[in-house]
Amino acid sequence: MSRPVPKPGILDIAPYTPGKSGAGVSGRVFKLSANETPLGPSPKAIAAYKAAADHLEDYPEGTSRVLREAIGRAYGLDPDRIICSAGSDEILNFLAHTYLGPGDEAIHTTHGFLVYPIATMGNGATNVVVPETNFTADVDAILKAVTPRTKLVWLANPNNPTGTYIPFDEVKRLRNELPPHVLLVLDAAYADFVSRNDYESGIELVATTDNTVMTRTFSKIYGLAALRIGWMYGPANIVDAVNRIRGPFNVSTPAMLAAVAAIEDTEHYQMSRNHTETWRTWLTDEVSKLGLKVTPSVANFILIHFPLDKGKTADDADAFLTKRGLILRALKNYQLPHALRMTIGTEEANRLVVDALREFMGQK
Ligand SMILES: *Cc1c(COP(=O)(O)O)cnc(C)c1O
Repeated sequence: MSRPVPKPGILDIAPYTPGKSGAGVSGRVFKLSANETPLGPSPKAIAAYKAAADHLEDYPEGTSRVLREAIGRAYGLDPDRIICSAGSDEILNFLAHTYLGPGDEAIHTTHGFLVYPIATMGNGATNVVVPETNFTADVDAILKAVTPRTKLVWLANPNNPTGTYIPFDEVKRLRNELPPHVLLVLDAAYADFVSRNDYESGIELVATTDNTVMTRTFSKIYGLAALRIGWMYGPANIVDAVNRIRGPFNVSTPAMLAAVAAIEDTEHYQMSRNHTETWRTWLTDEVSKLGLKVTPSVANFILIHFPLDKGKTADDADAFLTKRGLILRALKNYQLPHALRMTIGTEEANRLVVDALREFMGQK
């Protein structure tokens, strides 16, 4: 061998392709492709971030104690059962690193988040993809795919990029029917946007089992995607194992302190929730009226389906919108070639997209 060879599995991973961030056109650009908040973070979080600049010579406190305590207060959780991370991506990778290896299988659903196969295959394990029903995770399909090699199930609830969710009863049924040694990872990145009585983010299941974890992020409703902060709530046995592989200073001080300020600004949080709900309903109605199918979403984005007719496809729509500075997310690598995902934007951006789609559909 004349050069270093990656471990088995690594070169089987399809490189992650992010959404477009620019339009390549002059004029204003509205980036509605990465589920970032159009409202920005709490001004208090920005102030805390700037204040941290006075002490950049010091290593962070290694366990993110102040942030774990703030999360504990906000959600009524034991801070000892929380691990903070550089984005929830890092936590997902920690979990794979801790529990998966060659010969193991990890399951996710057809339109599941692309970080799951990366984490699975990066650890030499086999990625098992199971079908969804109506763009929604199907508990029976997941259970049917379980083999003696299954070690982990990834479930985003709500899911990205579909925006759908499964009710708490179904999550509980999944947990109860999975073998006890299988780790169930409930990725609740979009939990903050859900307002349904039959939804639960996973806190109750984590508290009552020793094989379930819930992951959360500050990248979406809190508007801190640039700082990379996420967290996990888990049973003591899993927290103990994951902490052994976690880098001793994995969360930076400015990120940690900004997140504390963000989680304490409940007014900004509520305003973001209300904005999302109002415009999610409006966009779903307006886009549907144009004759396009929209999958009902409980998250901060909507999934728009396009016809297959020449001139009216998702590709055509993507090009049409991009020329107008409206950047949505094409989803070919999510097995959704006929759909675009639109992050809910400012009032102005939302109205511009509906106007542009009306024109695209020839109704103007
Ligand atoms: C955005 C997102 C996350 C959060 O990722 P971060 O690394 O915390 O920014 C996690 N899971 C899903 C499904 C997401 O869409």
